[in-house]
Amino acid sequence: MTTSTSGSRILVTGGAGFIGSHYVRTLLGPDGDPGTSVTVLDKLTYAGNPANVDPVRADPRFSFVHGDICDAVLVDALVAEHDQIVHFAAESHVDRSIHEASDFIRTNVSGTQTLLNAAVRHGLETFVHVSTDEVYGSIESGSWPETHPLGPNSPYAAAKAASDLVALAFHRTHGLDLRVTRCSNNYGPYQFPEKIIPLFVTRLLDGGRVPLYGDGGNVRDWLHVDDHVRGIELVRGRGRPGEVYNIGGGTELANRELTGLLLEACGTDWSRVDFVEDRKGHDRRYSVDCTKITEELGYRPRKDFAEGLAETVAWYRANRPWWEPATTPTRTLVLTP
Ligand code: NAD
Repeated sequence: MTTSTSGSRILVTGGAGFIGSHYVRTLLGPDGDPGTSVTVLDKLTYAGNPANVDPVRADPRFSFVHGDICDAVLVDALVAEHDQIVHFAAESHVDRSIHEASDFIRTNVSGTQTLLNAAVRHGLETFVHVSTDEVYGSIESGSWPETHPLGPNSPYAAAKAASDLVALAFHRTHGLDLRVTRCSNNYGPYQFPEKIIPLFVTRLLDGGRVPLYGDGGNVRDWLHVDDHVRGIELVRGRGRPGEVYNIGGGTELANRELTGLLLEACGTDWSRVDFVEDRKGHDRRYSVDCTKITEELGYRPRKDFAEGLAETVAWYRANRPWWEPATTPTRTLVLTP
């Protein structure tokens, strides 16, 4: 099954966030398809920043709607005017979900279902649901194939797992052309400074201290946001309806190792690190098996991690006006990795 990627009208939810805005800037960038138009639907929560789409704001193929994916009337009207949805909108920070989970259930589960209802009603061509490797739980060794049973541990991951399964059910029940991607930890520019890389970099650049959870031995696979966007485009263009595709970056690091690299990149040392009490229910290791997307769609991560990390640190160094307002206590509820 191949979806027409040329000339499509794409509704991108959460397109003012970290990954969604990267997706939109890429689609409308110099290598994008001139026939594709994009509407961003974003509630502009603390994590959404309209400046993230400034580079494409003047493009006639771009429009922005400030709204909530849980607003069924708005969603219905928008879906009626589009061919495809790429769904990024979510509450995305595990620590916030531990603190209070209701927005996670509302947006990630009910919001997704609102979009799915409208997609079925209007006979949408393709719906790409962006899920996460965290839906699988934690794995000591080896890697998860897409067929592995889900076992989410945090309220965030559980809400994502619920939406992932509801989305797949809409394919089975209603025949919706629905494709799910499950990616590993993304990094790159424009990431709100609450996740470990931008949090540590902005604090270190400010001369501050950084909190490392537990023994720092939790392992994550790191995926550059450029590679993630390429993976999503492969799935949108040539993925099969009803299928799930893992997307990984191929660089597994313990948080302790990552911290060492960030200290070095910011020109400082371990005297700036506080080992803090571990996150509740902290998953030890995530690892996705990317054989399916590699063999079926020819996906391979291209970005070298050392190069991607150096570019990311350089971006935060050069873009203080973007992140400084986000690090003030009024905008930031929880500042832990
Ligand atoms: P983000 O938190 O940076 O952005 C989320 C965006 O969604 C924001 O612009 C926010 O304003 C918007 N939003 C939130 N609630 C909304 C609502 N009710 N209606 C409309 N818009 C709303 O998130 P991100 O890191 O860009 O993640 C994007 C997607 O990718 C999420 O679905 C997330 O679960 C998934 N994901 C992220 C990572 C990662 O490493 N960042 C890894 C795996 C999966």
